[in-house]
Amino acid sequence: MRFVFTDEQNKFRQEIRDFLKSELDAGTFSVDVSGLVGGPDQEFSRKMAEKGWIGITWPKKYGGQGRTYVEKMILIEECLRVKAPIGYHFSADRQVGPALMAFGSDWQKDFFLPKIIKAEDGMQFCLLFSEPNAGSDLAAVTTKAVKEGDYYIINGQKVWTSAGHVADFGWMLARTNTDSSVRGHLACSEFMIDMKSPGITVRPIINIAGAHSFNEVFFDDVKIHKKYLVGEENGGFKQIMAQMDYERAGIERLMQNYPLFEQLKNHVKEMDKDKDGGYFYAWVRDQVAQLEIEYNIGRLLCYNTAWVVDQGQKPSSQAALTKAYCTQYEQRLNDVATKIMGPVSQIKQGAPWAAFDGDLAACNLWGPSYTLQGGSVEVLKNIIALRGLGLPRK
Ligand SMILES: Cc1cc2nc3c(=O)[nH]c(=O)nc-3n(C[C@H](O)[C@H](O)[C@H](O)COP(=O)(O)OP(=O)(O)OC[C@H]3O[C@@H](n4cnc5c(N)ncnc54)[C@H](O)[C@@H]3O)c2cc1C
Repeated sequence: MRFVFTDEQNKFRQEIRDFLKSELDAGTFSVDVSGLVGGPDQEFSRKMAEKGWIGITWPKKYGGQGRTYVEKMILIEECLRVKAPIGYHFSADRQVGPALMAFGSDWQKDFFLPKIIKAEDGMQFCLLFSEPNAGSDLAAVTTKAVKEGDYYIINGQKVWTSAGHVADFGWMLARTNTDSSVRGHLACSEFMIDMKSPGITVRPIINIAGAHSFNEVFFDDVKIHKKYLVGEENGGFKQIMAQMDYERAGIERLMQNYPLFEQLKNHVKEMDKDKDGGYFYAWVRDQVAQLEIEYNIGRLLCYNTAWVVDQGQKPSSQAALTKAYCTQYEQRLNDVATKIMGPVSQIKQGAPWAAFDGDLAACNLWGPSYTLQGGSVEVLKNIIALRGLGLPRK
């Protein structure tokens, strides 16, 4: 592993920074700490597409640039520094495209990949995995897809579906073998599903920050053509485990609240040792320096995971430990910032005295979700123990 970026990588980073600065200066978007990434904004995604910045790791035959995951991480890191609105294409780029290239049919690749890479209409995806009784234990999904001729009939319920209310397509895991004696690991399949299909009801869930980010999604006799089955029937669980590594491996697990860190550092730089109290000031410096150490460890873990992928290896345990570490760092950042800023930390945006224009209050409310979404820390530790350390299951 190289611990320095090449000249070409540094040039690429600068090119992205210049583009984002000009967009920020033009007022195309504003920095928002709340969601995992900024957006969605299809126009902005189109601009990224024109630059070739969607699907940059995809092979050239699918319209991609065939670049490395390290370069992709540079791109996403720069976007997250300012929370650029990349939400329209983010899931499709990160997960759907690579899964289609690995498991999709020729028709699926020809139809979806060129559209995703150009951020065309109808290409925002949501992920329909979790159910009320199947989260960490995804093999327990009970949403059924029953084959009838050339179609599957879907019945069941999903929950916590981020962007389900704005997505055009869902990427879904459903049970295709309805024999309850067969373990879920061997009974589920993956589908793409048009979210406008008759029989789909999307109900909002408002989170504790007051935002409509995720949803409940109900399926009542929803009919989908068999051409939307991805990969092998009943082989979906195996496929999804490989995809989860990519969901967990990204630097978005370190940088959801990154703009808060920048604001905190700027605040501390402006503190006055004499006015703010010598002991308190010393403690604040110590805490912020510790955060800087932890942020840099997290960043190196992220880049190391990308490097592991570039070596053609499965990042499973590495992705799990990176996400477990990084999301806990993000929560510590909220915690330390709260201790430094005191009671004004709790004041929401728009109210006088709100710390960092309410960004700290927002981060505190979004904070508990960091260590849950994409797999909880406890479950990730199980993966590290099993697949990383080779410890026995029991
Ligand atoms: C902001 C946010 C966005 C999300 N977006 C999506 C989305 O777009 N699509 C989607 O499908 N899902 C989404 N999810 C759901 C997410 O994937 C689940 O919340 C997560 O997998 C945990 O599942 P659960 O909520 O059912 O909790 P459970 O699995 O019920 O877990 C509850 C608690 O038990 C612990 N636990 C469970 N099993 C074990 C074990 N074996 N060993 C030790 N501890 C264990 C967990 O760590 C957790 O603390 C989102 C969640 C959040 C918070």
